[in-house]
Amino acid sequence: MKVVVLVGGVGGARFLLGVKAALGLPAIGAAPPGAAHEVTALVNTGDDVWMHGLRICPDLDTCMYTLGGGIDTDRGWGHAGETWTVKDELAAYGAEPSWFGLGDKDIATHLIRTRMLRAGYPLSDVTAALCDRWQPGVRLLPMSDDRVESHVVVDDPETSGEDTEPGSRDRKALHFQEWWVRYRAEPRAHAIVPVGAEEATPGPGVVEAIAEADAVLIAPSNPVVSVGTILSVPGVREALRKTDAGVVGVSPIIGGKPVRGMADACLRAIGVQTTAEGVGRHYGSRQTSEDGLLDGWLVQTGESAEVPGVAVRAVPLLMSDVDATAKMAHAALELSGVDFD
Ligand code: GDP
Ligand code: CA
Repeated sequence: MKVVVLVGGVGGARFLLGVKAALGLPAIGAAPPGAAHEVTALVNTGDDVWMHGLRICPDLDTCMYTLGGGIDTDRGWGHAGETWTVKDELAAYGAEPSWFGLGDKDIATHLIRTRMLRAGYPLSDVTAALCDRWQPGVRLLPMSDDRVESHVVVDDPETSGEDTEPGSRDRKALHFQEWWVRYRAEPRAHAIVPVGAEEATPGPGVVEAIAEADAVLIAPSNPVVSVGTILSVPGVREALRKTDAGVVGVSPIIGGKPVRGMADACLRAIGVQTTAEGVGRHYGSRQTSEDGLLDGWLVQTGESAEVPGVAVRAVPLLMSDVDATAKMAHAALELSGVDFD
């Protein structure tokens, strides 16, 4: 069976562990030779950023380290056993930006990536090369080889104080990472824009994977800056609407709140309610709405959601361990209509 999953970073990576386990594959590491099932992850690259001359791809790395067994499981991102010597040295020089967590081990990944990109390799080839070491057991495809970066329009945090009239404040576009990591998503977002998306094309294999899939799952990733950014690449939404596979999404919102992180600040920026129903309606029905994506939508046990044209099912949605996540992924695959077990 061929399963395609749209993912961001931490939520997406954890969900992929469960998808692998639900298919009988080892959650961590390579699939055994001749495995009957194949998982392809379409990964958001809208968080990617240049820092200190290095190209950093947070969501690709989170997926690669998590599935390859190298992630810091407490933080959810970066290497286990990380050290911070380079970051401290950069700070001693007063080198900006100082707010970004750049670990020593991580830097090796960024150095290799940057060197390969500068030599002219596309991001998809670079990712495949890095995965040779990590063996994530999932084909990790960047959504695009083109540069697409999410920017967030806010009142300029440097110039707007309490004494300025709301209408007269300067607006500024921050890179998503600066808004998220440096400012903890506190300055209210007026808009979130995937800069470069209009001219981008899907990465090699992305549209084909969707067309050939037996099931397409949308991970419980951030609906705006993870899934929304993948969907902003022209051709991806169209491919999802055309595929013969069932498309099932999983809610990242439980009890009207994101399970972790600040996705509510992103949803507010696009005028979507922070509820499982709100996000389900935002993705919309493949059957009954013009640009909708979903055939099925999973919400947390005990919750209900009315999403016209979409089969909604309630199951436990907390990814507390691989077993719980595998059950969730199993329910998603079942709802997609694949012949399963
Ligand atoms: P990021 O790129 O690291 O921010 O990660 P993603 O975009 O892939 O996922 C972030 C989303 O995962 C957040 O909006 C969380 O609400 C969601 N999330 C995290 N843990 C869980 C969980 O256990 N269950 C569900 N349903 N969602 C989760
Ligand atoms: Ca991310």
